Amino acid sequence: MRKRNFFAGPSVLPMEVLEEMRDQLVDYKGNGISMLETSHRGGMFEDMYDECLQSFRDLIGIPDDYDVYFLGGGATLQFAMIPFNFLLPGTQAAYCKTGTWSNKACSDAQKVGSVAVVFDDKENGYTHLPDVDKLVLPENCSYLYICANETIGGIEYKKFPKRGSAPIIADMSSDFLSRPVDVSNFDMIYGGVQKNLGPAGATFIIMKKSLLERRNENLVAYFDYGLHAKNKGLYNTPPVASIWGVKLMLDWIKKMGGVAEMDKRADLKSGMIYSVIDSSDFWRSPVDPAVRSRMNIVFRLPSEELEAKFVEESKKAGMLGLKGHRSVGGLRASLYNACPIEDVQALADFMKEFERKNG
Ligand SMILES: *Cc1c(COP(=O)(O)O)cnc(C)c1O
Repeated sequence: MRKRNFFAGPSVLPMEVLEEMRDQLVDYKGNGISMLETSHRGGMFEDMYDECLQSFRDLIGIPDDYDVYFLGGGATLQFAMIPFNFLLPGTQAAYCKTGTWSNKACSDAQKVGSVAVVFDDKENGYTHLPDVDKLVLPENCSYLYICANETIGGIEYKKFPKRGSAPIIADMSSDFLSRPVDVSNFDMIYGGVQKNLGPAGATFIIMKKSLLERRNENLVAYFDYGLHAKNKGLYNTPPVASIWGVKLMLDWIKKMGGVAEMDKRADLKSGMIYSVIDSSDFWRSPVDPAVRSRMNIVFRLPSEELEAKFVEESKKAGMLGLKGHRSVGGLRASLYNACPIEDVQALADFMKEFERKNG
């Protein structure tokens, strides 16, 4: 029997996507060759890739003055590429430190140039997000950097900083296409695909062309966004298998009703779990209720022993990935786009039963 998958990433894919990959794996659409064995230049890969990029644009409404493409190296490579390209001498980058991922991005930027930390919730254990209207940016700010959804801490911006004097760059690895986003408010949005958009390997890059013009042009080839934009990500060999999976995932999202439907489902699914958490003192959510993530629900039980028991018994009940990240402990349920509503209902029922037996 197929398990119920609550892993934080790599994470659940729709059954339809897995079946399509299986069916087309050996002989892609009657071409007599697999998608995994062919050149990435021209031919069937490039046709599929162009369709993938177009679906991506259509699903979230990416304006024409933005480049869209995929790279390798994970979101982590972007932590370095962003400051190498845009944190120029004589400027300062503004970072909001809201959890593990923004801290990692910030620490890479600090190795490259001057950084102003404009928000840091360390003293509260990264359970809150900034009031975006009150952020004070440094003069000559090269960009403002945020992580839209902190996958480990379980907090998510409900409102984004408004475009002002500085470009805004956002890591949306774990919530992209789970809700409508006004792309034109940002200069760059990027993310690893393995949370919400497909099998691990590719990183999506959405970048306003005017941001590209400000970049450091004196970089080694792979670090230069200009080179990647000019080649729509095909400067070197892209992660082809991952991109193929993303293409199928985008088709699936479209078929289900698009981003508006993903947004509705995210409300429904996260609501099912948060309502159990809020129903008694047995459960505890460590984060500011105003910024609770709908993708990664972090919760605690009265003791670590009970938490271990919860993980153990949930596994026996066919539910995987409910242990919190090793850096913070506790429990976490990731409810990405592909996570079926029935699985979330099963988790909510399991939680109630667990409370009845142990509460
Ligand atoms: C998982 C994750 C990353 C790191 O992604 P890699 O692809 O492993 O480099 C960065 N940011 C966020 C928000 C993530 O969830």
